[in-house]
Amino acid sequence: MKNWQQILQSSVTTTEQLSKFVQINTQQVEQVIQHYPMKINPYFLKLAIKKGPSLLRQVLPDIRELYDDVCQADPLGEEKNSPVPNLIHRYRDRVLLMVSQECAIYCRFCTRKRRVGRNGFKITRESIEKGIDYIKRHREVRDVLISGGDPLLLSDEQLDWILAAVRDIRHVEIVRIGSRVPGALPQRVTPHLAKVLRKYHPLYLNIHFNHPDEITKESSQACQLLADAGIPLGSQTVLLRGINDNAEVLAALMKKLLAIRVRPYYLFQADPVKGISHLRTSIEVGIHLIEKLRANLSGMAVPDYVVDVPGNGGKIPLLPQYLVELNEKEAVLRSYQGEIYSYPQKPDLHPSAH
Ligand code: SF4
Repeated sequence: MKNWQQILQSSVTTTEQLSKFVQINTQQVEQVIQHYPMKINPYFLKLAIKKGPSLLRQVLPDIRELYDDVCQADPLGEEKNSPVPNLIHRYRDRVLLMVSQECAIYCRFCTRKRRVGRNGFKITRESIEKGIDYIKRHREVRDVLISGGDPLLLSDEQLDWILAAVRDIRHVEIVRIGSRVPGALPQRVTPHLAKVLRKYHPLYLNIHFNHPDEITKESSQACQLLADAGIPLGSQTVLLRGINDNAEVLAALMKKLLAIRVRPYYLFQADPVKGISHLRTSIEVGIHLIEKLRANLSGMAVPDYVVDVPGNGGKIPLLPQYLVELNEKEAVLRSYQGEIYSYPQKPDLHPSAH
């Protein structure tokens, strides 16, 4: 059986390789990958071919990527909030440290599409050291999100070194890792990796699943290994047109996630990133879907639907309107079934003085 490095090395990155597996317009794919590279590892490709368009669309280059004049390359202003290379400091007490330029697959809707897989995206030991040094000098930073690319594509030794260095900084309380590996290349999650990670608690893993078909025997086992290592797993799902913009699909995903010990955390409105317009939905669609999820699932299975607002607005949660009216006597509320209820208010219920 191949190990994860061998699987990754056999990834499909050229038009010629892809055309052996999937029927494509080679000229168009070639045009697209000149701008936005392609990478599909054999595990994900096999799964996507077996399961169909919802998985394939996430990784197959689409000519519409080149004709997007609505969006910006870096709508969240990551580059201008980067005081040292590969570190983003957007919020006072949190930083994002990019430690890997590699991914198990290149998602066509990636927020860092401007960088991922491209020559200008270079991460070195020196750049990581500079990032760690920046965190040391900024005592207000208490939460470090280790990202990339995908950090779990580093070797166990490299991860061990980075996590030890970050954990060693006294003012850092929380360390998080963002990764698509458990769903896209689950073979990477080995008992040894889990052993390395568990040394650095409190450590949280934000993983990325978009469709119930991504939950397989392999990805379930990967999540089990991580959960058994005591690592809380939260899923971030990106709402994608023609892929998961459907209440039944999302409900099935959330239920399956809970069953493999992953808590649905965020449902992200896809960022207005240049080259992904064809995969974005409207906000109305997102609100409608979250309302359906709320009506049909337990609260634990319902992620927060959030929009990451360009211009440093941060993540703003969006909810269907349940509060119809609020006055001194009552709150008029709408239930998930659309019925109206009056909830009594107590006029003298002011916040207690401290
Ligand atoms: S794995 Fe993450 S960083 Fe890599 S292409 Fe997909 S969304 Fe982007």
